[in-house]
Amino acid sequence: MVEMNGKVLRDKKLTELKEKIGTLDCKLGLAVIQVGQDEASKVYVKQKEKLALELGYKFIHKVFDENVEQDKLIRYIKKLNKDDCIDGILVQMPLPNHLDSSLIQNTVDSYKDVDGLTFINAGRLVQGMPSLVPCTPKGIIDMLDYHQIGLEGANVVVIGRSILVGKPIATLLSNRNATVVLTHSKTKNLGEITKNADIIIAAVGKAGFVTADMVKDGAVVIDVGINRIDGKLYGDVDFPTVKDKCSYITPVPGGVGPMTVCELMNNVYEAHMLRKKAGK
Ligand code: NAP
Repeated sequence: MVEMNGKVLRDKKLTELKEKIGTLDCKLGLAVIQVGQDEASKVYVKQKEKLALELGYKFIHKVFDENVEQDKLIRYIKKLNKDDCIDGILVQMPLPNHLDSSLIQNTVDSYKDVDGLTFINAGRLVQGMPSLVPCTPKGIIDMLDYHQIGLEGANVVVIGRSILVGKPIATLLSNRNATVVLTHSKTKNLGEITKNADIIIAAVGKAGFVTADMVKDGAVVIDVGINRIDGKLYGDVDFPTVKDKCSYITPVPGGVGPMTVCELMNNVYEAHMLRKKAGK
């Protein structure tokens, strides 16, 4: 069994990114918008800020009160859309219930949509066209490629169908000619389905959800889950029992997680290049 170390690949990709940034004659800019004081969001924004500053990006962290009026938030995003020094805009999810997350997400200019969540980028992804791709799915594909895991014709089961992880990873894999089954909470006999998978991708949000009896011998298991229990992090896969059945597995922490923030920084660069190419 090979443990897929996300930190090693992240560092390799960051070195490549630094070389690309070094050829630019301007500073890249990332703006992160947070609404309210959600503790997990604060941790995620800190991680983004640390890496952005390390790469020499301009970094704006705008925090709105949790009761902010939707129009005020939209006006701020529109201002960032017009700001030539900002290449990427990210609205930290989840948003409070009084806000229309989809409307707010789609206010972000698709050329600055480094989360890849606008209708335009999601549609381009489905049509196999160049687009800004959500960071976690992109990180998963990079990990699979790095370990030279064949995707063409592979039977893949994705557990979870969120717009952030499950759906885009299923689309990316289908675009790469894998045969993909996208499962969710209403799926019947999930364990029977996963037992046929060459690759399982778990994005459920339930600690230890994937157990050894759901995994065939030699399968590749990618664990996206981040579940905090008593201050400790657990994945969606029951790592101690599943690892012995796999050919490859990602640990939590240290697997998919480190890739996500690195892919975000890469998306800021890609967004800059796409925008300049389009003359925007
Ligand atoms: P989400 O939006 O809550 O979606 C969870 C998905 O799991 C839903 O599609 C849900 O099905 C499905 N599900 C729930 N119970 C199930 C069951 N019993 N059987 C099969 N499917 C079930 O979560 P998310 O945003 O995709 O995130 C998933 C996990 O990944 C979370 O732990 C999150 O923290 C983590 N995450 C990690 C990273 C990273 O960088 N490593 C990035 C993003 C997310 P329905 O659609 O039917 O409700």
